[in-house]
Amino acid sequence: MKSRYDILVIGGGPAGAIAARTAAEKGLSVCLVEKRPAIGTPVRCAEGIGKESLSEFIEPDKRWISAEMKRAELVSPDGTSMILESRHAGGKVGYILDRKIFDRELVWQAAEAGADIAVKTRATAPILDEGKVAGASVDFCGNTSRISADVVIAADGVESKFSRWCGIDTTVPVREIMSSAQYLLTDITIDPHTTVFYLGNTIAPEGYLWVFPKGDRTANVGVGISGRKSGAGHRAKDYLDRFVREKFPDGKPIECIVGGVSVCRPLPCTVADGLMIVGDAARVVDPITGGGIYNAMFTGRLATEVACSAIAAGDCSIEALLPYDAQWRASKMGKTIERNYHVKEYFIKLSDEKLNALAHSISRINLQEFSTFQLVKELIRHNPTLLIELTRLMSHFA
Ligand SMILES: Cc1cc2nc3c(=O)[nH]c(=O)nc-3n(C[C@H](O)[C@H](O)[C@H](O)COP(=O)(O)OP(=O)(O)OC[C@H]3O[C@@H](n4cnc5c(N)ncnc54)[C@H](O)[C@@H]3O)c2cc1C
Repeated sequence: MKSRYDILVIGGGPAGAIAARTAAEKGLSVCLVEKRPAIGTPVRCAEGIGKESLSEFIEPDKRWISAEMKRAELVSPDGTSMILESRHAGGKVGYILDRKIFDRELVWQAAEAGADIAVKTRATAPILDEGKVAGASVDFCGNTSRISADVVIAADGVESKFSRWCGIDTTVPVREIMSSAQYLLTDITIDPHTTVFYLGNTIAPEGYLWVFPKGDRTANVGVGISGRKSGAGHRAKDYLDRFVREKFPDGKPIECIVGGVSVCRPLPCTVADGLMIVGDAARVVDPITGGGIYNAMFTGRLATEVACSAIAAGDCSIEALLPYDAQWRASKMGKTIERNYHVKEYFIKLSDEKLNALAHSISRINLQEFSTFQLVKELIRHNPTLLIELTRLMSHFA
């Protein structure tokens, strides 16, 4: 590890790894620091990703794909089930990854491209030069050192502190933190190619419960509930335990994780002088699903591309880095986040009765193509009574 780089990346998740890989491929000197002793563990993720999204960044490889999905099933509070076959998803269905290996592979690729990697190395404070971010102090096993950089990329995840230390307000309202708990549950009977989502205020208030297969008899079984619905005796893990007791009484948990997912709007600005914020740290998670792996990789790559031009021009001011912020907001990813935020706000307010009514009509819909847009359009057609509410929602698809 040197004391000066073009780019310093904080965090070795998908956002940081792709940022570091892109920088190294472009010939910049780059160092990625990760506070954990090992990349990829512990996994705090249900590990689902769309096929097309994944292959935008890396060739799929059996070594880190646990299972391939052919369909998704949605189950309403009264048990009504809607199956979405892959042909309705336009081939966009996904994989369940093995992130312990996947995250390592991404960091390996960054290292192979020429990035320096330092694990068990925690960024503890920004180095500021006349208000501009100019690097970070890092702690490695009690030894503190300073790393200077033209640009620091904060890829430090949902619990991100680095941008806050730089003076940026990263607070997420409690109601927009999805409090989650998940078991890797084995010895259970499941369809190994179907992801299942359970909805309802009894099962997962203002959230959902998922079963994501990881093999023939193993799955990530987890639940996310709104932070404001969480409390003693009714935390995410309580909902999960209740579900597992009823649905998979003989299942054996071989891993248990808890974590938070932000389902708020992204940060109002994701750049500052010498600083770029990517992935979960920038709050670019899909507000409906809580999925953020693709968005993390997308913003990691884009940030580095913009940083590269700024460094070449010798100007890493906020003005020079702003194109990153503008470009991801204008991208399909940025627009989807904004639209899905409104869809999420609508759906979390629905009573179980309304959810059931919608599920009954969805189960009669023959979707030619599965997308949020198609779904809402069809719902309007089948639910004249909900026309006004849904039409308002539809305005966000314009
Ligand atoms: C229960 C749960 C289920 C999920 N399921 C899915 C899913 O199915 N599909 C999906 O797409 N997304 C899912 N997500 C979200 C997904 O995990 C994240 O969006 C994704 O990991 C974001 O990547 P990232 O690189 O931004 O952050 P992270 O993967 O969180 O990486 C950030 C890294 O920064 C490191 N770090 C933090 N602070 C410092 C510091 N000061 N110094 C050095 N290193 C630091 C951390 O140790 C961490 O390794 C889920 C999340 C949860 C909690």
